[in-house]
Amino acid sequence: MISFTQEKLLKALKHFFGYDEFKHSQQVVIESVLSGRDTMAIMPTGGGKSICFQLPALLLDGLTLVVSPLIALMKDQVDALVANGIDAAFLNSSQTPDEQRRIFREAELGKIKLLYVAPERIPKDSEAFFEFMLKLNPSLFAIDEAHCISSWGHDFRPEYLKLAAFKTNFPHIPVIALTASADKITQNDIVARLALVNPNIFISSFNRPNIYYYVQPKRDAFGKIVNYINKHKDNSGIVYALSRVSTENIARKLNEAGIKAAFYHAGMDSASRSRVQDAFLRDEYKVIVATIAFGMGIDKSNVRFVIHHDLSKNIEGYYQETGRAGRDGLRSDALLFYSIADVMKLRNFAIVDDNPEQTAISMNKLHKMQNYCEHEGCRRQYLMNYFGENFPGYCGSCDYCLTSLEERDATVDAQKLLSAVVRTGERHTATYIINFIRGSDSEKINPAHKELRTYGIGKDLKREEWQWIVQQLVVNDLIVKSADPYNILSLNERSWKLLKGETQFRIIMKKERMPDESSDDGGTDVGLMNKLKDLRLAIAKQENVPAYVILGDNTLEELAVYLPLTFEDLKQISGFGEFKIGKYGSYFITVLKKYVEENNLTTRMADKEPKKVKREKTIKSDKSSTQEQSYTMYKRGMSIAEIAAEREIAPSTVEGHLAAYIPTGEIDIVDFIPFLKLERIITAIKSTGQLTASKPVKDILGDDYSYGEIRMALEYYRAKGDITEFK
Ligand code: ADP
Ligand code: ZN
Repeated sequence: MISFTQEKLLKALKHFFGYDEFKHSQQVVIESVLSGRDTMAIMPTGGGKSICFQLPALLLDGLTLVVSPLIALMKDQVDALVANGIDAAFLNSSQTPDEQRRIFREAELGKIKLLYVAPERIPKDSEAFFEFMLKLNPSLFAIDEAHCISSWGHDFRPEYLKLAAFKTNFPHIPVIALTASADKITQNDIVARLALVNPNIFISSFNRPNIYYYVQPKRDAFGKIVNYINKHKDNSGIVYALSRVSTENIARKLNEAGIKAAFYHAGMDSASRSRVQDAFLRDEYKVIVATIAFGMGIDKSNVRFVIHHDLSKNIEGYYQETGRAGRDGLRSDALLFYSIADVMKLRNFAIVDDNPEQTAISMNKLHKMQNYCEHEGCRRQYLMNYFGENFPGYCGSCDYCLTSLEERDATVDAQKLLSAVVRTGERHTATYIINFIRGSDSEKINPAHKELRTYGIGKDLKREEWQWIVQQLVVNDLIVKSADPYNILSLNERSWKLLKGETQFRIIMKKERMPDESSDDGGTDVGLMNKLKDLRLAIAKQENVPAYVILGDNTLEELAVYLPLTFEDLKQISGFGEFKIGKYGSYFITVLKKYVEENNLTTRMADKEPKKVKREKTIKSDKSSTQEQSYTMYKRGMSIAEIAAEREIAPSTVEGHLAAYIPTGEIDIVDFIPFLKLERIITAIKSTGQLTASKPVKDILGDDYSYGEIRMALEYYRAKGDITEFK
């Protein structure tokens, strides 16, 4: 059907969303949709599914209908699209019938590119459905959270079943189904139930490289959590706990410890629940203590940590919960506290009465979860293998791989172990010896052995540490482990030398560690980051949207690292599309300029990867934004009147365009407004007590001052402050 070159797709991605490259399989998925094929995209949470239908929606002629099950999520996505200057709207039961009718009418008139609907808004009977759709003139159907159509999935919703009518009524319109469900049965079921025709199926890796995994023994878990959160005061995070009561208790204790935290669980009424969710999205609460009921539909991109106070009952759940961290691709921590007591507790829950099969499945999944916690190796590798992916051993971003090792003299420990082996007759396994040396009161230990002097002399080390010592002794040929299946330990000549103190034994041991010790902030300036966050929050409050809808954390970080000072610079910052540059660019440049001046810094844009600069050039050669066109003409020496005439727009519009270049210093305001006039305008601005609207200023000044002049003066005043510094 329609074909788009890679260059065009990248240009559109940059233009609408401000991103420089596609993530995961986004590009192939988008190409498949644009070629008219039914498509299924399977990506982990945070993988970037939305772009897979949003970008085609913008490139195709008609309307894209998006089915999404979660009202909160829907509103968020629409807010984010509108913040990028895209015509999007939603229809769901939270709106009045009048509102719904208005939006439907706008969609009918072709004024909406993306329409999100809740499945219950879609008519049930086929004829009404057909009419509903026909009026909208759709060119693409997108079905988010597509696993909801399958009873095999973890969140079956019967109203999804009517979505099969898409293909039966409109066989020629492509459908894209999106899910994070990794499970094969569910995937096949989605294809069958949606009646997809010969679909392209794309499965992305489930690896989330920016999430760091840690497992800690559950000793003083609460103290460790407080410590962790205090070290990451500016970050948002979720603490998961098993029961409703414990979420309330932990939240209360956190508040007592001076950490503002709210709790969330399914026992609360829905109004309280959405209040907590909203407060979290808007950063009013940075920490939520919740049962696993929290998170479905929380599309907050800058969750920096997920802590499991209690064990999860399976890897699927654990992975989904940890996956809520770091959707923006920045480093995030997943920390779990593990205890055998939790395993016991969960075993009771795993028992399904009169259903031994289901019980066995749940027990097995719990067992795998336990293995993960006790795993002596790369955690990421374990997780990837669990999901059927190969992963090489060393990830460098889990507690195992990050553990700093310490070398120490273990001669005495080795002597204790060897002498235990000798005393018990060189007839026992490593497990027996370790239990014996640690003074286990198990009945499996021979009562006579319990009388020996070596019984219990190794209590000071943990079981794992003894296992490690045995393994290292074997590797170094300092002890013999029989090759038969019994693994009996005995001594050799070298062991005796060691036992007599004629040789030494050094060993490399693991140190226990918490997340963060290895963290690196890449040199981001915290003071500047806070200024940028404050500005973002102020804009977000004014527009009544969550802060990350304005700009993501990673975009702020790029600003703080590269210090862009002009609109041209901003174009190279990931997350700043044309629309956002026009709307918010000058505010951010103002803050950055001020900061750079105060601290004697210069821009670091030259350090940005050259590849992006190159791509930038190809974009620049194309037709640029309307603001830029006026600016280019002005730079060529044309007057405002000339530009207005040439472009067939009002002179005040041109003035508005050029005003945007004042805070950056690319245009000097004295070229436009005589000093005395400027002084009067600024006096008027000050008397209005606000810094954005030009109407109140115009009301004071009257006809001798144009809106364009006032807008320029506003930009100037916001950027430079009072006029006295200007002579
Ligand atoms: P999912 O729906 O798969 O959980 P989202 O569509 O919400 O994921 O995307 C997750 C995050 O990644 C969002 O913050 C989004 O803005 C960001 N993102 C998506 N695509 C890109 C891209 N190509 N480059 C950079 N960031 C992206
Ligand atoms: Zn690892």
